[in-house]
Amino acid sequence: MHRMLMGAATAAALAMIAGVAAAQAPPPGPMVTTRIKPGMFVVFDNGGNVTVREGKDGLIVVDTKNPGAAVHAELLKNIRSMTQLPIKDVIVTHHHADHSGGAAAFKAEGAKIIAHEGYDKQIKAGYTGADNFRPAMADVTYAKTYDVKIPGAEAKLYHFDPAHTGGDTIVYFPDLKVVAAGDEIVTVTPNVDYPYGASVLGWLDSLNQIAKLDFDTIVTGHRAIAMTRAQFDEYHQKWITFVQRAQASAKAGTPKDKFLASIKTDDIGWNVTGVQWTPADRLDPLYAEMSK
Ligand SMILES: [Zn+2]
Ligand SMILES: [Zn+2]
Repeated sequence: MHRMLMGAATAAALAMIAGVAAAQAPPPGPMVTTRIKPGMFVVFDNGGNVTVREGKDGLIVVDTKNPGAAVHAELLKNIRSMTQLPIKDVIVTHHHADHSGGAAAFKAEGAKIIAHEGYDKQIKAGYTGADNFRPAMADVTYAKTYDVKIPGAEAKLYHFDPAHTGGDTIVYFPDLKVVAAGDEIVTVTPNVDYPYGASVLGWLDSLNQIAKLDFDTIVTGHRAIAMTRAQFDEYHQKWITFVQRAQASAKAGTPKDKFLASIKTDDIGWNVTGVQWTPADRLDPLYAEMSK
């Protein structure tokens, strides 16, 4: 008993110390760097996946991981374990901190930050975190599509539709047949960030457009770094199924408070009854979209 109490007290003290340390400087978690194609590697974990495309004399980087100097240093260390080429263009797939957190640091080091116009809009309208973690505004924004070219490498940027947020960018590397999709393609239940301009119908349309690209590999937002075309097709089909069921339920008159529970999702492996789905600022626009 005495030992148990001591153990609990020690655990509580350690948790407090850890909490203070975390508030001061979040320690970087493990990152793993994997080459997925000649001329391309991915730095995995501690925020969204970071895709790096090697040109002849410079790099195109997609996403920037979590905020904080320690995370950025760890990311640079991982990039420098593969190449010494300068980082020219940094594309941020959307404003969420686990993708935009290091944008300010890359910008300070001389890279050009490129994002959809909705990215700047979301940061201006919606950023509520600490000032030293504020994502950098983009140097270049675009509305529908934008080409990034450096000697020996090209990336085509698309904003097909509002999906995960209102400022999503899909990055397509045509010569390598790779799509870096940010959080539009994930291996968990999708997070439709309606308060920041997301849309379920837009998401499905965006996937319909991605499906038309000639690719064999997807870098997802998190977890799986190299999804195959077949795995993408399976994920796409889950979205088609989900939207069909949600629309059928809404149009059958299911009341809003019973709506999420009415959509069968166990066979597609999604849980739409959690906090990313149930708040009114998410449920209301979803219900409205599915009732149209
Ligand atoms: Zn993310
Ligand atoms: Zn996100």
